[in-house]
Amino acid sequence: MRYERPTTLQAASQLLAKEKGLAYVLAGGTDLLVRLRTGFIEPDLIVDIKRIASTRTIAKTATGFKIGAAVTGAELGENAALKKAWPGVVEAANLIGSKQVQGRATMTGNLCNASPAADSVPALVAAGAKVVIAGPKGKRTIPVEQVPVGPGKTSLKKGEIIEAILLPKRPAKSGDAYLRFIPRTEMDIAVVGVGVSLTLDAKGVVKDARVSLGAVAPTVLLVPAAAKAIIGTKLDAKAMDALAAACSAACKPIDDKRGTKDYRIKVAGVLAKRAAKIAQQRAGGK
Ligand SMILES: Cc1cc2nc3c(=O)[nH]c(=O)nc-3n(C[C@H](O)[C@H](O)[C@H](O)COP(=O)(O)OP(=O)(O)OC[C@H]3O[C@@H](n4cnc5c(N)ncnc54)[C@H](O)[C@@H]3O)c2cc1C
Repeated sequence: MRYERPTTLQAASQLLAKEKGLAYVLAGGTDLLVRLRTGFIEPDLIVDIKRIASTRTIAKTATGFKIGAAVTGAELGENAALKKAWPGVVEAANLIGSKQVQGRATMTGNLCNASPAADSVPALVAAGAKVVIAGPKGKRTIPVEQVPVGPGKTSLKKGEIIEAILLPKRPAKSGDAYLRFIPRTEMDIAVVGVGVSLTLDAKGVVKDARVSLGAVAPTVLLVPAAAKAIIGTKLDAKAMDALAAACSAACKPIDDKRGTKDYRIKVAGVLAKRAAKIAQQRAGGK
């Protein structure tokens, strides 16, 4: 197995594109190294992206935030401006693993590992985040929800690397939240995860919203019907019930040791209401 640490995206992309065997990008390694050590994968090439400068920074730009692909959960949690603008996204990323895991794990790795239960992904999807992908044919930008295509599978092509995650600029009176349900208090895989991002008008009416669900389908879901249920409302009881019903209806879960289908469907609705309430409060609503 070869281990490479290129300093440019072009070099990293070329290494991956030219490799005939099994090649992986390495960010924090908290998924990849576990799979390697347990013998689940036997890579021929590992390309560590942490020496590529553009993957290591969080930049506040004219259009929002650009978060490099190798930025860790701990670094996200230390960025006051990012936490203020996108508290739900940062909280979701900071739910991943323990203190030790936080020192390595990245949101991009969480996304590219393509687990349906990945914690940061519903928050990113609700936020309307995009990813910048660098590959042999140059760069392209796609919405986060288009990256995972099934458990453990992404839409990335050979030689492609995610360089950064883009979070849009927040309009005034906006808030987001991510909640997950796990059987233990921490260090567990979500039974259900819900991300909500919304913007209120001057009267406290929801004028824009995005709702996303994790762990209830083969990929994280964007649920437009759930957003529609709360847009134009002040999140009164009727709107909240419609939100919960839309979330439950969107679920296509499996039964497993953490929860049954029926349980996941019910919990998705309950968590969506709670997350929407938190997002509303963060947006300055009541
Ligand atoms: C003890 C423990 C607890 C955990 N708890 C949680 C939890 O609570 N919630 C949760 O969601 N996850 C959890 N995880 C899983 C893991 O920590 C996360 O998925 C983490 O975000 C992965 O990020 P990473 O940077 O370590 O990814 P890596 O392991 O480096 O990479 C993961 C995958 O993504 C690919 N990849 C990484 N970066 C890129 C890139 N820039 N471009 C293209 N492909 C890329 C890699 O090739 C690999 O296939 C846990 C893991 C451990 C070991």
